[in-house]
Amino acid sequence: MRIVKGVCPKCGREHIRSSPVPLTIVCPCYKICPICGEEMKPFKPDMNPKTYNITGEQEWTSKTLYYCPNHEPPYYSDLKPVEVLLT
Ligand SMILES: [Zn+2]
Ligand SMILES: [Zn+2]
Repeated sequence: MRIVKGVCPKCGREHIRSSPVPLTIVCPCYKICPICGEEMKPFKPDMNPKTYNITGEQEWTSKTLYYCPNHEPPYYSDLKPVEVLLT
C-alpha cells in the first residue's frame, strides 16, 4: 500500500493516508472554534435569517454551519470544509 499525503492550506495540518491512488479528504479544521479550540456544534437554524433580523443585528447568516456555545454571544462560523488533495 502506498502512502499519500497533503497539507491543509487552511490550518497547515499534514494528513497521511495509505491509498494506492491520490485521495481528496476533508480537513476537520472548519469545525474547530478559532477562539477556544473546541470542536463546534452543527448549527441548524430553526428560523429564517431575515425574520430573525428584527433588531437590525444579524449574528449568523444562512452560510453559518457551526457555532461554539462556549462564548457569550456564541461564536458563529461560516467556515467551509477544506478539501485537501493527498498525493
Ligand atoms: Zn485544516
Ligand atoms: Zn469557542
